[in-house]
Amino acid sequence: MKTSRFLLSTIKETPADAELISHQLMLRAGMIRKLGAGIYTWLPLGLRVLKKVEKVVREEMDRIGAQEILMPSIQPAELWHESGRWAQYGAELLRITDRHHHEFCYGPTHEEVVTDLARRELRSYKQLPLILYQIQTKFRDEIRPRFGVMRAREFLMKDAYSFHEDDASLKTTYDVMYETYARIFQRLGLNCRAVLADSGTIGGKITHEFHALAESGESLLAYSDESGYAANVETAEALMPLGERKPATKKITLVNTGSAHTIEEVCHLLKIDPKQTVKTLIVKGREKPFVALVLRGDHQLNEIKAAQLDAVASPLAFASEADVLKTVGCPVGSIGPIDLNMPVIIDRSASVLSDFVCGANQADHHYRDVNWERDVAIEMIADIRNIEAGDPSPDGKGHIRFARGIEVGQVFQLGTRYSTSMNATVLNEKGEMSTLFMGCYGIGVSRTVAAAIEQSHDEKGIIWPDAMAPFHIAIIPLIKDAQDEMSQKIKALAEQLYEQLTKVGYEVLLDDREERPGVKFADMDLIGIPHRLVLSPRLGLEQVEYKSRKSADVTTVSMKQLINFFKEINLLD
Ligand code: ATP
Ligand code: MG
Repeated sequence: MKTSRFLLSTIKETPADAELISHQLMLRAGMIRKLGAGIYTWLPLGLRVLKKVEKVVREEMDRIGAQEILMPSIQPAELWHESGRWAQYGAELLRITDRHHHEFCYGPTHEEVVTDLARRELRSYKQLPLILYQIQTKFRDEIRPRFGVMRAREFLMKDAYSFHEDDASLKTTYDVMYETYARIFQRLGLNCRAVLADSGTIGGKITHEFHALAESGESLLAYSDESGYAANVETAEALMPLGERKPATKKITLVNTGSAHTIEEVCHLLKIDPKQTVKTLIVKGREKPFVALVLRGDHQLNEIKAAQLDAVASPLAFASEADVLKTVGCPVGSIGPIDLNMPVIIDRSASVLSDFVCGANQADHHYRDVNWERDVAIEMIADIRNIEAGDPSPDGKGHIRFARGIEVGQVFQLGTRYSTSMNATVLNEKGEMSTLFMGCYGIGVSRTVAAAIEQSHDEKGIIWPDAMAPFHIAIIPLIKDAQDEMSQKIKALAEQLYEQLTKVGYEVLLDDREERPGVKFADMDLIGIPHRLVLSPRLGLEQVEYKSRKSADVTTVSMKQLINFFKEINLLD
């Protein structure tokens, strides 16, 4: 490709509305343009990168025998009623009505459609296991689309689905997929980590997420400093503290805490550590109208863990201030577990406290030296807090540290979550109807592009790993006066080199624009081409200057040695 013919839409200024560096650079490099909130057009440069990700994903899916299909993006509501997700999914599901008043949705994921396909096409256990996949546009009406294609509403996903006779076969394929995901991200040049995860609205129990490690990542990951344990904080288990609860040493007393309402204010007033207090949060219940959740004052509620409890409504919903006032009879800052007229669930760490402080369920009052069982019965203990740095690792080995990540993929063992509700069966060896076991496996193809930029850039722009680069090599001829003889020769040599390298199989961008050298260098650095060749009258016709985007060093290579040189640095291997 030659820049004179290529839609190179680079921008010098940093776009004001782009927070993340990847979003800024994708706009500045002319990879994407925004059409609406969370909806983007991919320009030629961006699309070349997106196709590179697709290519690696496709090759790796095909390698393990997965078969590519293409399902529609518009899906009939009936299927979603069958799975139960029409009611469950909420506002992220974009619902559409056609001219005949039939309801549809724009697919956020394809479990329903693929399960419907499987129940129609699969007859016998002999056809199993089977893996189908597609690379297709999804729509999720995200509440806060942001960071460009990182959290878009319309985005490209690779979604794969596997079908099995039994759980053992599902587990085998799950492991193969897990390994394949690790390979994909490694081939793409990403620094990724697999972590235990929560299955959200997709369903199933066993699931891992793949995260590109990056400071800007939206996910907080907990890992052990001694073992291989790693989990999304959403799901990482906070263990029951070791040892017995200490016996009560003091009598319970009611204290007027006046205008001190927050944990911080109360601790300041009473000169105590937040670790000696509990906070009580009121949420909506599944059967009872409200449920109280009690945590140690310095701990954070984990909303996902809480919403998974039978007594608690899912998704988690907090009681309003008005609800609290009406039900408990005091403002939110004064709630405590003593004589509370609703089920009380106590976090593990809060349950081992003694002589602690809590709200007194009376405005402006707290109790001091409260003790479980003596002053308030323990009804139920559960793990409902976020794990914290320094906590013991749930696998018993080492302590927890944190890292941030961008979720680029997730694999799920669905089991029979969809096949039971949608009645997807095959005949087993004995000729009996047997419910299919399923797995599903997603990769955010468009998000992966942004994640790669988050991991690899500098002040000049993007630094693509070879596998994702829109072009492998940029050729920049430096010609002062295109009319003089030497300039003409350099120009011709650049064309010749371009042909030669293209023939060998490299993707080459020849910058044949009549621009100043500074402009050309800046553009090639911004769009991140990994290998740069400069031709100039100074170097003559026998030599070319090579520079890797990753390093500041410039080397002179003889024109004859060039192909060998690229072989030696393993370009395209
Ligand atoms: P998230 O937690 O980031 O909202 P998710 O867990 O809901 O993502 P999955 O259902 O696991 O997403 O979808 C598979 C993959 O699709 C994700 O791992 C992610 O890489 C990608 N993805 C999901 N939502 C978006 C989005 N709004 N924009 C871009 N990519 C997305
Ligand atoms: Mg996910």
